[in-house]
Amino acid sequence: MPSGYSLVDIVNQLSNEKSTAINIKSKATRNNVVAALDKIIQHLRIFRQTPDNGLIVFCGNVSEDEGVPDLKIWSFEPPEKMNTKIYWCDQVFVLDPLKEMIAEKEVYGLIVLDSQDADIGLLYGKKVIPLKHIDSLVAGKAIKGGMSQRRYDRIREEAINEYFKEVASVASDFFLKQKELKGVLIGGPGPLKDKFVKEEHLNYQVQGKILGVKDIGYTGEHGFEELVQRSEELLKEAAVMKERQLIAKFLTELQKGGNVVYGYTQVMEALNLGALETLMVSEGFDWVRVKLKCDNTHEAERDLPESEINNQNCDVCGQGMRVQDKDYLGELLSEKAKNYGTVVELISTDTNEGQQFKKLGGIGGFLRYRIR
Ligand SMILES: [Zn+2]
Repeated sequence: MPSGYSLVDIVNQLSNEKSTAINIKSKATRNNVVAALDKIIQHLRIFRQTPDNGLIVFCGNVSEDEGVPDLKIWSFEPPEKMNTKIYWCDQVFVLDPLKEMIAEKEVYGLIVLDSQDADIGLLYGKKVIPLKHIDSLVAGKAIKGGMSQRRYDRIREEAINEYFKEVASVASDFFLKQKELKGVLIGGPGPLKDKFVKEEHLNYQVQGKILGVKDIGYTGEHGFEELVQRSEELLKEAAVMKERQLIAKFLTELQKGGNVVYGYTQVMEALNLGALETLMVSEGFDWVRVKLKCDNTHEAERDLPESEINNQNCDVCGQGMRVQDKDYLGELLSEKAKNYGTVVELISTDTNEGQQFKKLGGIGGFLRYRIR
């Protein structure tokens, strides 16, 4: 259920589904579906309203023994706002939308400010999330009548200082809550943003993560969009930096004989054991899974580098084999990794480190625990 969706509407829909379910031919399936729908309708009574991010409910007979039903129900508020309504009646629980939500995303802090107002937000993956708008009480530069220039400047300076302190404190609080904050981007139309950065008002940890300061035309949500656009290069550099650090860590562990694996066979084994925490795949990794057939119609399936697919011989009769079907293993492994909660990192070949990784076979990863 998406956030803000009416519980009454959902209950009505489920009642309708129930009247349809009565037509299901298989008695066992019909009973299971109807019982699950009843249980969900009953369960929804404990909610007074849909939680902020929406609600996810899984319900069904999980029994291994057909004669003894075991009807279970789970419900929870998802970690991100649900935007779509999904009703799915199937043999298995559909988890993909949820997996997508918890997939690791890059998080950057955003601040856009000028003398009028400031906006604080996050760049989450490719999505901008505005968090807080702050109006300033800073007067314009023009002097009002009856006040000396010096006194006026001092008052304005104090107001700016107060405004900076508030922006910094709100932004620092939000950004420090992000455990995986990759960096902070700051922008604004005037010179005030530079002053804000130079005077180091932010918490020192947040201040240390400033990637860049950009001149932009607006504050507010347009400002966020413009700031992200103008920071594309910086974000790319940050990604390259992250990749370098990851490979350096991998190579250090490898030298120490630590918890890392590399090479297709070892990585596949670790993945199948559920022992792989992070899977690193080079964009230069060219292994494929091929289905082969010889002239005597013997068939085989082999995993090998793409360059070797045309000189394969049949194990049975020794004849040369032709390729019937080909899948890239980098993609297959990445898909498989998702099922084990393994983080997938694509490694470019643009850096020296990336080239070095490719020479090691272009595939490797960090283990959750030692496997031999
Ligand atoms: Zn053969």
